[in-house]
Amino acid sequence: MPTLYIVATPIGNLKDISLRAIETLKEVDFILAEDTRESFKLLNHYGIKKPLISYFQHSRLSKVEHILDLLIQGKNLALISDAGTPGINDPGGRLIEEVVKKFGERVQIVPIPGPNAAITALSISGFNADKFLFLGYPPHKKGRNKFFKEVAGSKHPVVFYESVHRILKTLAELNQLENLKDRQIMVARELTKKFETVYRGKIEEIIPQIENQKLGEFVVIVS
Ligand code: SAM
Repeated sequence: MPTLYIVATPIGNLKDISLRAIETLKEVDFILAEDTRESFKLLNHYGIKKPLISYFQHSRLSKVEHILDLLIQGKNLALISDAGTPGINDPGGRLIEEVVKKFGERVQIVPIPGPNAAITALSISGFNADKFLFLGYPPHKKGRNKFFKEVAGSKHPVVFYESVHRILKTLAELNQLENLKDRQIMVARELTKKFETVYRGKIEEIIPQIENQKLGEFVVIVS
């Protein structure tokens, strides 16, 4: 049966990859990557030489069809994203959806677990993470208010992603919500990378500390 491996890769530090992930990437016929240049760095580091096929959310249907064709031919494929676990808030999810819809039980989908930015941040938060709400990215326009209300109304810690371009705007808007002002939050920047920084405190205490950051990827956790 053709197999599609969903392989988690590092979120920064190249050493954060499992032996099984490396082994799988060395064995498959093709690797499907979000951005081939980005994945090349990782594959090169581990001496993995396999044909790469790029996929991304807005790729034309023909690319998905091509990938489905390879599965029909019985090829084994590995899907990786730019960072972390494919399908968790990245375009891999759409491809997995198509494969499940089109092939059902005829293709084996095998997870090769590993890093994920949300879980990595949660693991050091010190907030009770027995239950939590993961909300992905805040919408830019439509649904943004609803998103913030959901954060404010949650009984459990809320985890979400944000980019460097929008982190200050998002934190400022969160701070406008009455019952969030005094809440403890944690912001994790550049996890596992050289400039890894973790900020803890109230929103108004954290904003000035990240005002000068021009680079970075962020996970926000609201207690
Ligand atoms: N699939 C990925 C995962 O498993 O975490 C998430 C992909 S999503 C497109 C990328 C977002 O994850 C970034 O904008 C950032 O919010 C968060 N992220 C990824 N790597 C990170 C890191 N090293 N430190 C902090 N946040 C990170």
